[in-house]
Amino acid sequence: MSRKFAIITREAFEEFMEQYKAKTSIRSVEGEIVYRIPLQNDLAIWVYSTINPISGESREKGEDAIRTVLMYKNSKAVMKESKTLRTKNWAKNLQDKIDDLQERTTEHRCPWGHPLVKRKGRGGKGSFYGCAIFPDCKYIYKGEKRLSDVYDPKNIPPRVK
Ligand SMILES: [Zn+2]
Repeated sequence: MSRKFAIITREAFEEFMEQYKAKTSIRSVEGEIVYRIPLQNDLAIWVYSTINPISGESREKGEDAIRTVLMYKNSKAVMKESKTLRTKNWAKNLQDKIDDLQERTTEHRCPWGHPLVKRKGRGGKGSFYGCAIFPDCKYIYKGEKRLSDVYDPKNIPPRVK
């Protein structure tokens, strides 16, 4: 692999995360610090930093890069971004991924009370609003009306257990 990987220190990572008011926790199995960015509607972005809490540095190998995942109620993964490689442009690249997930959240909910999120269509074509807990709830909204006006009784997804 010809790409140049950079070690990221905990200090540099925390300086970057300050803008997001993130909370930290440690994932014990892999021994990495996870930063949780709280958002609207019980959603949060989890950033798996690869920073080892003992060494205070990111892992050396590039294969397991920084992951960003949108979570619902801190337990269900809603959507992921591609991994951010630890190259010298990591901060800008990670920022773009966090911003993208942030822009996909809404303050609205499906008729069953789950958050609606903006999803990409197949092959990255178009976008629509869908339930955060898909496939457990299959509610989607593609209409032109404001989301706050939406309730379509003909479009009833299966009840969630
Ligand atoms: Zn739903």
